Amino acid sequence: MTSYHDITDALSGLLSPGKVTADREILEAYARDETSDLSAMPDILVRAESVEDVRAVMEFCNTHGLPVIPRGAGTGVTGGAVPVRGGVVLSLEKMNRIIEIDRENMVAVVEPGAITRDIQDAARAEGLMYPPDPASLDSCSIGGNVAENAGGPRAVRYGTTRDYVLGLEFVLADGSVITTGGKFVKNATGYNLSGILIGSEGTLAVVTKIVLRLVPAPLFTFDMLLPFPSLVEAMNVVYGILLNRVVPATIEFMERDAIDLAAKFLEREMPFPDAGAHLLIQVDGNHEQAVFNDLDAIGKLSCADPDTIIIAQSPEQRERLWKARRSIRDAIKKFYPVFLAEDCVVPRSRIPEFMSDLKNYLETKDLRSVMFGHAGDGNVHIDVLKGDMEYEAWTQGLPELKREIYRRAIALGGTITGEHGIGFIRKDYLSLALSRDEIELLKRIKKAFDPKGILNPGKIF
Ligand SMILES: Cc1cc2nc3c(=O)[nH]c(=O)nc-3n(C[C@H](O)[C@H](O)[C@H](O)COP(=O)(O)OP(=O)(O)OC[C@H]3O[C@@H](n4cnc5c(N)ncnc54)[C@H](O)[C@@H]3O)c2cc1C
Repeated sequence: MTSYHDITDALSGLLSPGKVTADREILEAYARDETSDLSAMPDILVRAESVEDVRAVMEFCNTHGLPVIPRGAGTGVTGGAVPVRGGVVLSLEKMNRIIEIDRENMVAVVEPGAITRDIQDAARAEGLMYPPDPASLDSCSIGGNVAENAGGPRAVRYGTTRDYVLGLEFVLADGSVITTGGKFVKNATGYNLSGILIGSEGTLAVVTKIVLRLVPAPLFTFDMLLPFPSLVEAMNVVYGILLNRVVPATIEFMERDAIDLAAKFLEREMPFPDAGAHLLIQVDGNHEQAVFNDLDAIGKLSCADPDTIIIAQSPEQRERLWKARRSIRDAIKKFYPVFLAEDCVVPRSRIPEFMSDLKNYLETKDLRSVMFGHAGDGNVHIDVLKGDMEYEAWTQGLPELKREIYRRAIALGGTITGEHGIGFIRKDYLSLALSRDEIELLKRIKKAFDPKGILNPGKIF
């Protein structure tokens, strides 16, 4: 093959018409994901509609040594779906069927392009729940969630995507189609291939079908918003809650700046304008009284004046509270389009130390940051804003800034990313978090799945 023109023709011949394009205007939309300040044009776009399409594309690209970049909904924030070396973007957006909600086995069988919210709604209609709830759930795809091991606020009680994948169908670089697991919870048959695929960021295989574990939907869910003078005081309450045998579904924290930005974005007043930090806690269960007891215990442990606690009982009230939490990233994007988004994890008990140490460091650099995240599982979102800084100074300073953030998380026993992955923007820092031997082993796994290195090159390593 000599040119991408020939390749487009050859791929169009292999697949039915309309699935392959090299139209620059269409390709533009596939040049970026939600990563701040990163884009690269693909050469060709293929919108697969079946596993057979994916198989044909992979076999062809492997034979000709062409890069293939799997893509879900493009909401990733580490450049995972960005074709940094050009090549063929393989979009799974049209493979979006919820094939089955199997009530008896409490399982969902879905295609990778299915939107996470749609899976949750389909499960709920059968009295079941798919718990992982990334803040992007209205737009991200389940294939992207699997590839990133996406998490969300409910990880405290329910875990992350990894805890719900029972089986996968995936296509290797050479076009082989492999099926792992199935509609069963236990499996001790050989290596856990699904486990290796989860969090592999499109570098090992293209996921074409997913079997998901569902759980019974809790009958009662209440959310409460609690104000605190400072983050340290809020975090002390978090430990108290968990040590008192109350395991809420979520324990989210938002520092003052995060709330202020969300309020400005949503053009609404926030209930506690003077609070230094907030906790947004969700408690669920099947016995109303037991859920009330948990709410009561949390209220007492917080030592808050009961008049300052907001409890949302109806879906509308709940949505109002969560809208503010889920809008923080969009607010930052709107008011500060260039920013660094980090999602380090540290042991839960080290969150206040991590944040105050980092704030001090950022202040010495005249940088403003917004911090929020998952207090229950130690995952802190740190968004550092470029603000008025000259663009050149900002980009020059980024490597040191990232290194300082990661170094601090690792020193406290944490790691560099909890849910957003390595992708393109963190690959130069992998060696801060993993040993040389570990990285070598990961590279050997990559070679076993994709010997020619055509799948999502330039990511993770
Ligand atoms: C406002 C906002 C809030 C967010 N909140 C959260 C959050 O709370 N928790 C969280 O974990 N993330 C969050 N994210 C990040 C993002 O939504 C997740 O990483 C999500 O899982 C990406 O899904 P996607 O379908 O958009 O994947 P894409 O961005 O399209 O791709 C992400 C990666 O997955 C690979 N990939 C996609 N589909 C496949 C497939 N079928 N087979 C193999 N590889 C594939 C791609 O190659 C790429 O490396 C947020 C993003 C935004 C913009």
